[in-house]
Amino acid sequence: MEQPDAILTSLKLLIIGESGVGKSSLLLRFTDDAFDPEQAATIGVDFKVKTITINQDKIKLAIWDTAGQERFRTLTPSYYRGGQGAILVYDVTNRDTFDRVDNWLTELETYSTNHDIVKMLVGNKCDMDETRAVSKDEGIKLARKHQMMFIESSAKTKEGVQCAFEELVEKIIQTPGLWEM
Ligand code: GDP
Ligand code: MG
Repeated sequence: MEQPDAILTSLKLLIIGESGVGKSSLLLRFTDDAFDPEQAATIGVDFKVKTITINQDKIKLAIWDTAGQERFRTLTPSYYRGGQGAILVYDVTNRDTFDRVDNWLTELETYSTNHDIVKMLVGNKCDMDETRAVSKDEGIKLARKHQMMFIESSAKTKEGVQCAFEELVEKIIQTPGLWEM
């Protein structure tokens, strides 16, 4: 018998990037459709769970946040272990956070147990256009250079947030060997 509510698979997604770029805010927007401008950098959860439907398949996501440890470069290998998808976030108003995406890629390559982990580069805070320091074109180029998907987002206005997660998951589902039924 067909089970319409059965979960097709469970995936582990990681969110990485410099402190303050909006990782926790993106997660809160995606899971609870909320934005907290006072989001304290030190407050974070280990992970949040959300089930989404893609092409009529239910997919359970465990999305890992860093709980602020990224400031001290102390993310452990267990943070990365088993992740099928990674969201690499920078802040479009802060060039330094863009320049450091390379470091996060190196860290991901070092610790990731899935060599074909799917990567999505996210330029967050695109609502702050008046203080923008990184153009969309630069983001697109960096993403292309490292075979990443790319989107600009705003956890504040919701722009691009849903898309970032959903397109990442769709790509994972299309990648053979990365997940199991
Ligand atoms: P994290 O350290 O990467 O987890 O960053 P947070 O989610 O804690 O966000 C850092 C600060 O940036 C907070 O004050 C957020 O309210 C703010 N912030 C996050 N995303 C956005 C955004 O898309 N637009 C604007 N204007 N502010 C944001
Ligand atoms: Mg955080």
